[in-house]
Amino acid sequence: MKTLILGEILNGTLSSGTLEIIKKAQDESLDYQVVTIGSDDDPTIGSKSFKQTYIKRSSESLQFSKVTDLITKIVNDEGINLILGSSTYLCRDLISFISVDLNSSPVSNVIDFEINGDAVSTINSINGGESLYKSKIASNHSLLLVRPKSFEPADVELNNNFETMEVENSDVAIFDIYKEEKTGPQLEDSKVVISAGRGMVDKENLVIVEELAAKLNAAIGGTRAIVDAGWMPYSQQVGQTGKTVKPDVYIACGISGATQHQVGMKDSKFIIAINKDEEAPIFQLADLGIVGDTLSVIPKINQNL
Ligand SMILES: Cc1cc2nc3c(=O)[nH]c(=O)nc-3n(C[C@H](O)[C@H](O)[C@H](O)COP(=O)(O)OP(=O)(O)OC[C@H]3O[C@@H](n4cnc5c(N)ncnc54)[C@H](O)[C@@H]3O)c2cc1C
Repeated sequence: MKTLILGEILNGTLSSGTLEIIKKAQDESLDYQVVTIGSDDDPTIGSKSFKQTYIKRSSESLQFSKVTDLITKIVNDEGINLILGSSTYLCRDLISFISVDLNSSPVSNVIDFEINGDAVSTINSINGGESLYKSKIASNHSLLLVRPKSFEPADVELNNNFETMEVENSDVAIFDIYKEEKTGPQLEDSKVVISAGRGMVDKENLVIVEELAAKLNAAIGGTRAIVDAGWMPYSQQVGQTGKTVKPDVYIACGISGATQHQVGMKDSKFIIAINKDEEAPIFQLADLGIVGDTLSVIPKINQNL
């Protein structure tokens, strides 16, 4: 099946989410190519094993409709049926424009998909990950937003072999641009993730989580409860309506372990939980459970590292 992967660039190369979708495309023997959207000058995103088109846009402008005009043209010119993107802010925006251009409904939060001849079926999780459902796509084009960490990343050697298309600035009036600060290890790619929950008691106490994260070179996440309380930005929320992480070590600090949180971290390789309630559901997932007060346990760990 002819397939277009919407690629993303992180730190000048393909994001892990893009590499995960490439791996699935390879495993399904799809006839795929990659179109990557970014504003970097000279990213390393090409490969000997697939065709790559780089749509370069200005980082100071929001030309999504112009970008998607180009993508829709590629889809129509090349007779592409399947379009895959990671469930990220960028791909969600792009797929919504593309779905209008192609008059096809997108399917979001896909955790797997199957191809049978011309038919595409998706597998999604519901009820906080407790149940799966399968649906067959009826639209002319299949537009899938795939949940990050659903597949292992492809191991491809990347180079500078790609075609670049520059997008002209649109005439949209922009009043303000907010740029998300990205410092330190990122949630999606870090081998160690430390997440905080309401059991950190107060926003001020996150400083001890930050200290632990600095010692372990870890990324910091949080539950929806603390994101809603304004302790952390939404971009750090782990769970059903936040990010999915799959680190080697996940440390849950004062987190009850609601199913909506578990969806985003249950596939971590080794889970450590600190909670003062020994009945907290997080302990059912944990490989190592510490029953205790976060405010005394975490400083002790920090002292000993
Ligand atoms: C549609 C929907 C989507 C959602 N999506 C998400 C999502 O993406 N991510 C997410 O996280 N949640 C999500 N939620 C919310 C989720 O249901 C929980 O409410 C949330 O995860 C709870 O966060 P928490 O564990 O920080 O808080 P709580 O559930 O209040 O748990 C706090 C824990 O801290 C412990 N504790 C308290 N004080 C201490 C202390 N001093 N030392 C040690 N332990 C202590 C308590 O024993 C308790 O277990 C969603 C809910 C809905 C309905």
